[in-house]
Amino acid sequence: MAEGRPTCARRLSPGTEVIPLLVGAGAAAGALLAHGVYAPTSPVFGPVIGRGRDPRRVYLTFDDGPNPGVTERILDTLAEHGVPAAFFVVGGYAERFPALVRRIADGSHEIGNHTWSHVKLHRSGPARVRAELERTDAVLRDLLGRPVRLFRAPHGYRTPLVTRAAARLGYSVVGWSLGVWDTARPGAEEIRRRVRSRLRGGGILLLHDGDGYAMPGAREQTADALPGIIRDARAAGLIFAPLGELLA
Ligand SMILES: [Zn+2]
Repeated sequence: MAEGRPTCARRLSPGTEVIPLLVGAGAAAGALLAHGVYAPTSPVFGPVIGRGRDPRRVYLTFDDGPNPGVTERILDTLAEHGVPAAFFVVGGYAERFPALVRRIADGSHEIGNHTWSHVKLHRSGPARVRAELERTDAVLRDLLGRPVRLFRAPHGYRTPLVTRAAARLGYSVVGWSLGVWDTARPGAEEIRRRVRSRLRGGGILLLHDGDGYAMPGAREQTADALPGIIRDARAAGLIFAPLGELLA
């Protein structure tokens, strides 16, 4: 019965092997969790739509509106060019500007939930996470007269609480494959150039028609850049397709 003891004792003795192993495992787990929280398409905390598979099709998304003065301009450009988009709206703004939400829907664009107050959900407790999603869901259902299907977390930050709250509402969680920091307002031509140089087939492009932390949001440069972005992508042989086709 004693044969196993020496081996066991050797393994468990405070030495130079076990502790680094534990530290290494801890670091790996930490890196995995960080990836799950911060990477917008990480599957660590559940499935995320991060890109399409068709190499000719791309998907346009706008976050943080509705934002009077900018969202209308973007809708006009999309209508003029016959391009579909998905708008991930902030619930508090949707309640303030219901006509703008209806106008997005009337343009046959998709509308997704982007929380009530654009809070960073990885720092929020379970009750807050649920309230942020559910309050927005109720306002959007009321405005649209139909269920909302899409959710995108502010900054893409997610945890298992977020995954659970989204699943309860029947949402598909959406990330993005290309962000160009249009929120930093580098100039419309620079926004256009960044998209032109990096947008590839299957890409989900993240742009912003509003500002999650300020109303009105200064997103005129994004609106200014949009016609050129559409022209460039089409010149490269890309087709703008509705995001909803990725919900399999
Ligand atoms: Zn946002």
